[in-house]
Amino acid sequence: MAQIINIAGAQAIDDPEYRYKMPRIIGKVEGRGNGIKTAIPNMVDVASSLHRPPGEVTKFFGCELGAQTTYNDDTERAIVNGAHETRVLQDKLSVYIEKFVLCPACKLPETSYKIKSEIIYHNCLACGAREMCDMQHKLTTYILKQHKIEKKAKAKSKDKDKKDKKSKKVPRQCHKRDEVFMQTSTRRRDASTASTRPHVAATASTRPRESPHVSRTYRGSSATA
Ligand SMILES: [Zn+2]
Repeated sequence: MAQIINIAGAQAIDDPEYRYKMPRIIGKVEGRGNGIKTAIPNMVDVASSLHRPPGEVTKFFGCELGAQTTYNDDTERAIVNGAHETRVLQDKLSVYIEKFVLCPACKLPETSYKIKSEIIYHNCLACGAREMCDMQHKLTTYILKQHKIEKKAKAKSKDKDKKDKKSKKVPRQCHKRDEVFMQTSTRRRDASTASTRPHVAATASTRPRESPHVSRTYRGSSATA
């Protein structure tokens, strides 16, 4: 188990009663030579205590260390290429927390991103502040890209919902069209019979609730006559 520490940015927090905690990050160097890499086995725990996606935190290490990174959502395996000491990873994580997790106003880790016209803001649940992130940092490109992907996925699922609703409505629409057909067919029959055979039209109007079947056969016979 990783040691539990206070969530701190640039300034260390000595308060043992501090309520925001996270596990200390663990780095494990694997392989050798050109294939040497550092795995972070507790990335999911670390990221979830910061309320940030593990892919984003992994990417931050890549930006800061100038290394390739991979994060696999299925296996939850986070890799930073190259050999990196755990102490370095923890220092970089403090930079991430300072820039992307802590509220710039009250310094509490209670923020979520609010993205508006390509600018990322911190929305603070603790003090209500909304402050811009450091948009100079390379990670912002990644965050905006992820945001777009999520937005697209949401729009797609919404579209699907709409389509499902439409397909459910189809039978009702058919029913309505039938009604319209019945109305026009009776009107047409009324018009044609009224001009040629007024007495038939009178009897037809006394029987307004004919079934469409009957009205259709009646129309057929009047056409042959
Ligand atoms: Zn705040």
